[in-house]
Amino acid sequence: MSRYDYLIVGAGITGAIFAHEARRAGKTCLVIDRRKHTAGNMYTRTVSGIEVHEYGAHIFHTSDRDVWNYVNRFAEFNNYINSPIARYKDELYNMPFNMNTFSKMWPDVVTPTDARKRIAAQIAAEDIAEPTNLEEQALSLVGRDIFEKLVRGYTEKQWGRSCSELPAHIIRRLPCRFTYDNNYFNDRWQGIPIGGYTKLIDRMLEGTEVKLNTEYRDLVAQTPDIADRIIYCGPIDGFYDYELGTLEYRSLRFETEELEEENYQGVAVVNYTEREVPYTRIIEHKHFEFGAQDTTVITREYPADWKPGDEPYYPVNNERNMQLYQRYAARAAAEDRVVFAGRLGEYRYYDMDKAVAAAFRLVQAELGHEPAA
Ligand code: FAD
Repeated sequence: MSRYDYLIVGAGITGAIFAHEARRAGKTCLVIDRRKHTAGNMYTRTVSGIEVHEYGAHIFHTSDRDVWNYVNRFAEFNNYINSPIARYKDELYNMPFNMNTFSKMWPDVVTPTDARKRIAAQIAAEDIAEPTNLEEQALSLVGRDIFEKLVRGYTEKQWGRSCSELPAHIIRRLPCRFTYDNNYFNDRWQGIPIGGYTKLIDRMLEGTEVKLNTEYRDLVAQTPDIADRIIYCGPIDGFYDYELGTLEYRSLRFETEELEEENYQGVAVVNYTEREVPYTRIIEHKHFEFGAQDTTVITREYPADWKPGDEPYYPVNNERNMQLYQRYAARAAAEDRVVFAGRLGEYRYYDMDKAVAAAFRLVQAELGHEPAA
């Protein structure tokens, strides 16, 4: 007889929501994670009173009322608004591209009409009918000045290739806002859980048995009948021993240090848009929670090639990978007691709110109730 109704592999937000709802439905659950902590990629750890976003800056934003209400049951969110700065050499620009950006880039641009005209003239000067690569695509969307200062270097660092070698479809839009609004997101709700994401996830997991430092494969080798059903939030190709091939990711490397100063850059996120600076961003974590500590913690973020065994961050959604994923998904559909979920199980980039919404659908399909109700 199985010891649990559900084994949930992965203590990220997907696994935690499922565990919470399964427990509410009277099911017994065991959550495992191979890492030494809960919260998956949303994990935050406390350094000198500052919540450090260990796997990259995480800002919660959503327009889904059910999702927003649900996460607010587990944490109080602050009123952080993401307004990143782009730094090109010693010039600073507001993001996303808006009237503040345009009037700084071109001092004679004062009104939205001036900005529209200037961008249109820059686009016309490029005279690109059918963009054949990312460089041409970006030039045909925003023109030369914005491309050279704010797009080229950042994108080339992100992808490890020159913009002229990258396919045009990577950038479909480069939104320009003709208002003085530096709020990066258009969503209705936005914020950071006060006290960090780990606390939020741990509240979801309250009352559920959690085993950390535990690899799925090792656990089932010892106890094959540990649970009736398995919710697998790990990489789908790994589950099948990469038998059909390996799904590819882009990775990141983080360099974190605590500094003996109160305020390093005055904002949580600075994008470094010139090619010569090897990192893409510096995150100063205290600003996510308006911290007033005497010291500060910063993280430099370096894009990195990925090889099997590295931390998977961004799925590479090209044709090869999508076809391979479809083949794994077909296998997964034939499983009678394993369900694949989350960003790794479904091999797709999910913002947190979309991961929450997907977890709701999983709960509905598996447990037959609506978490948001
Ligand atoms: P995860 O958090 O990855 O959890 C899966 C867990 O499964 C992991 O802890 C892993 O250790 C465990 N696991 C895997 N395989 C096994 C195994 N075989 N045995 C045991 N355990 C296993 N979203 C936003 O909305 N806003 C942001 O600002 C934002 N920033 C991001 C920045 C970066 C750099 C990245 C990569 C993502 C960002 N996201 C952001 C997305 C967010 O991280 C995801 O939506 C979220 O982490 C998805 O949660 P998950 O539970 O599906 O996966």
